[in-house]
Amino acid sequence: MNLVLFGPPGAGKGTQAKVLAERHGVPHISTGDIFRAALRQGTPLGLDAKRFMDAGQLVPDAVVCGMVRERLRERDAERGYVLDGFPRTIAQAVAFDEMLSADGSSIGKVISVEVADEELVRRLTGRRSCPVCGAAYHVESAPPKVAGACDACGSALVQREDDSEGVVRKRLEVYNAQTRPVAAYYQDRGVLQRIDGSGSIPDVLDRIEKALEDGGR
Ligand code: ADP
Ligand code: ADP
Ligand code: ZN
Repeated sequence: MNLVLFGPPGAGKGTQAKVLAERHGVPHISTGDIFRAALRQGTPLGLDAKRFMDAGQLVPDAVVCGMVRERLRERDAERGYVLDGFPRTIAQAVAFDEMLSADGSSIGKVISVEVADEELVRRLTGRRSCPVCGAAYHVESAPPKVAGACDACGSALVQREDDSEGVVRKRLEVYNAQTRPVAAYYQDRGVLQRIDGSGSIPDVLDRIEKALEDGGR
């Protein structure tokens, strides 16, 4: 399965990608998670990305594309992937097409998860994240079993710095200006499917699985 999960910050991409990747036996590749892991390890990539992330801005295309190119060459991605958070600009989408065609491959399916702005703000400001495994929780909609601890690995949950309301609003602006046009790019090529991202996490998962079956790819 070669799937791109597309949508605004807070749409539930990471939540759904984790389940889909596990079910379909492919890696979940989240560019945001890769940057945060690099930052925890104190690598130059992580330190460089941090400035942009904290401001709610996008990391430069060349940095992101180089990183994704390397990640897709890893062995576990031979059988496919669920990409979450990439591509986020037209330039990234074009670079991604070039990466795929260089490998004799082409774009699989792009599923756009659509959620109203006010719900995005509610989801992001209430999000709590596991700094170790990347799992996301929500204080109201998806609380962990033990308050403050990750169900999957037990680590103490944190609120991401960029999930404060001010930065969230900025990220939504950046999404509208730079990322939303990517949906039209894929729509023109006939690979985009839009699904309703409102409602419960299992309901949204069902809609994604149905969209995957429909296209048959
Ligand atoms: P969310 O899950 O809320 O959508 P991410 O974890 O995907 O957020 O991304 C967090 C931040 O990492 C972004 O605001 C941006 O600074 C950076 N980032 C992640 N992916 C990309 C990308 N494809 N292009 C540019 N910046 C990115
Ligand atoms: P993204 O990766 O698109 O930024 P996440 O998967 O991290 O989004 O989800 C953002 C927040 O919304 C998290 O706190 C998550 O627990 C919560 N969430 C995800 N899906 C739903 C849903 N269907 N209903 C309510 N809350 C959700
Ligand atoms: Zn965890």
